[in-house]
Amino acid sequence: MPAMSVIDEVLAANEIYSRTHELRRLTPRPERKLAVLTCMDTRLSIRTLGLKTGDAHIIRNAGGIVTDDALRSFLVSHYLLGTEEFMVINHTDCGLMSTSEEDLRGRIQNRTGTAAVAPASFHTFQNIEENVRHQLQKLRAHPWIPESVAVRGFVYDVTSGRLREIKDA
Ligand code: ZN
Repeated sequence: MPAMSVIDEVLAANEIYSRTHELRRLTPRPERKLAVLTCMDTRLSIRTLGLKTGDAHIIRNAGGIVTDDALRSFLVSHYLLGTEEFMVINHTDCGLMSTSEEDLRGRIQNRTGTAAVAPASFHTFQNIEENVRHQLQKLRAHPWIPESVAVRGFVYDVTSGRLREIKDA
């Protein structure tokens, strides 16, 4: 028999979880009316934010970028599920900072031997503060995100475990 894959291990763990299903009481509406967009990085977790499951919407992608899809999630979060504060978090030592669009695309093309039109951009960046400000602008400039929604941006330092707020330039 082949070795158990991680997905098989997850299925076994879920079987055990489902016997008690402690999160059954949760509703789809975030209890603390917060939506957080952050990188998929392994070192970021709701634990680092003092949040519990059910407190907030956690929207994640590589980089913590306000893509069309992240924007879609924020809008659903506010209009359908009642969140009132949006938080955008980028982090130090992000994989997207150590590469460029051309380099990443080139590396994948070399590995696969083929080009691809999608994704149109990997959203690589050089300056983390500028990158956070750029994400905030995309949210604040959007006509469907009301003034009443707080939109704030942060850099998470993976060494110190601290969040630092990025104010407008
Ligand atoms: Zn990252």
